[in-house]
Amino acid sequence: MLRSCYNTDLSIKDVGKEVALVGWVSKKRDLGSLTFIDLRDRSGIIQLTVGEGVEIPDIRNEYVIQAKGKVAKKDVPNKNLKTGEIEVLVKEIKVLSKAKTTPMIIADETDALEDLRLKYRYLDLRRPCLQENLKKRAKIVHCAHEYFDENGFVEVETPCLTLSTPEGARDYIVPSRVTHGAFYALPQSPQLFKQLLMIGGMERYYQIARCFRDEDLRQDRQPEFTQIDLEMSFLDQDEVLTIMEGFLKKTFKETIGVDIKTPLRRMDYAEAVDVYGSDKPDTRFGLHLIDVTEILQKSEFNGYREAKSIKAIVIPGQAPETSRKVIDQLTLEAKKFGFGGIGVYKVTENGVESSLLKFMNEEQVKDLVIKTEAKVNDLILVLAGEHDKVCFALGALRSQYAHKLGYIRPNTYDLLWVVNFPLFEYSETEGRYKALHHPFTRPTPETEHYLDSDPSKVLSAAYDIVINGYEAGGGSLRIYDQDMQKKVFNILGFSDEDIARKFGYFVKAFEYGTPPHGGIAFGLERLSMIICGTENIRDVIAFPKNLKASCPMSNAPCPVDPDQLEDLGIKIVE
Ligand code: ASP
Repeated sequence: MLRSCYNTDLSIKDVGKEVALVGWVSKKRDLGSLTFIDLRDRSGIIQLTVGEGVEIPDIRNEYVIQAKGKVAKKDVPNKNLKTGEIEVLVKEIKVLSKAKTTPMIIADETDALEDLRLKYRYLDLRRPCLQENLKKRAKIVHCAHEYFDENGFVEVETPCLTLSTPEGARDYIVPSRVTHGAFYALPQSPQLFKQLLMIGGMERYYQIARCFRDEDLRQDRQPEFTQIDLEMSFLDQDEVLTIMEGFLKKTFKETIGVDIKTPLRRMDYAEAVDVYGSDKPDTRFGLHLIDVTEILQKSEFNGYREAKSIKAIVIPGQAPETSRKVIDQLTLEAKKFGFGGIGVYKVTENGVESSLLKFMNEEQVKDLVIKTEAKVNDLILVLAGEHDKVCFALGALRSQYAHKLGYIRPNTYDLLWVVNFPLFEYSETEGRYKALHHPFTRPTPETEHYLDSDPSKVLSAAYDIVINGYEAGGGSLRIYDQDMQKKVFNILGFSDEDIARKFGYFVKAFEYGTPPHGGIAFGLERLSMIICGTENIRDVIAFPKNLKASCPMSNAPCPVDPDQLEDLGIKIVE
């Protein structure tokens, strides 16, 4: 037997026990007659103490060793270690495997650059914080299996070699060797298959599904990622959300011991944008957006007089902190969002200060202060323009200030559903409507009739789960009526030929008895990031890609052998 237990299974209760431990050498201190070794295994670190008379082989950092000995109480406990009250007095010590000097320090605190960490990911993974993250991620998956199994969901795997699925990103495609010139697409999600499973009579499906989207990468995006994907038949929206709330409640409790109060709040998309300036509002703090259109439209400032919407946020106590330099930064920020500038009003003991006062009369200034409820030393920021654009830009400033001013208490979790999204968004650049979720999302019964008269007014039976300002998942009830599906496809600009080519098999299935159905997908990485408290998606993936979508460890993607290309009938254009 190589080991009798994990390092941190041992505690003061085990003093006197004979043990065999294995692991990596985290640190070694040689004090002549005594040698101390910090031994690390998956569970944590324990101190080995080797006294005179015990033969010590050549041992260095990251060697894999086995030590046998007796647990003893330490004279001076080490408060930094879980096992700090004890040590193991070693009787026999053996090297199982040697290690070269590692290119990075293996500890939670490391200054190694991320590309180096990804190149030697197997060493990086020895860092306890990463191991903790992967354990929590595994626990979330475990909760999903347990909960959805208990609730009658059947786990079904769907293909990875398939046709394009309409989630709006670019596909990863795979050439066929058998049919030259034909390509599979890797699934952006199992969307079509899970709906076909409902037509197939499965009623409740789930899958821990791998998805692929060839998008520009960001801190919170990877080319391949995992969804906890679900679909169910014969349920209304409330029933779907209630089942999902049960899963979230269980998961937060069992991974980090946090009690989530259900039912969760439901907020209309319109309110989220209007009040929080975001479709994924962080409701852990206030700083609400306030409509001041009526007041400021009356001013002499053209930027205000012509604006459809004028909104403000009040940053408490920030007036004295807002120097010329800060105003320049705010202006720059507003320009990034396509605005000419930003209205900055400081409320002081002597009244309001702003370069825009010359355009306003006293009453307008007074009304602005009353409406925004700003106090002395508060800062009022104002943007004017098209409603959604104004809201989203102020929403970004709202969030920046909240982070900067420490408004967000650590370890607080705020979950809510955002509902009643618009079904379509109009793309000015493409001059057509696009689906805000995907083309299979059902309109709400109350707004369905606008499909014929004004598609921009149609709301969807879609729902996003938002946690601390992150979209952790989203889904919808689906269209199950062929005529309505056709209508939606037409509004989206798909010709009959497009429909037949892209979704022919899917639309055909709807002709054979389709149950009302709906579903959702949780982003496993997003959920893991929130639960692990990290903003870097690579912290919750064992072998992630870097921001160039490549893997510094394996060097994927790479050129392939010429005969492989020949098999596929592919020529590379330099
Ligand atoms: N397939 C959708 C997505 O990936 C989720 C859903 O509608 O169930 O966002």
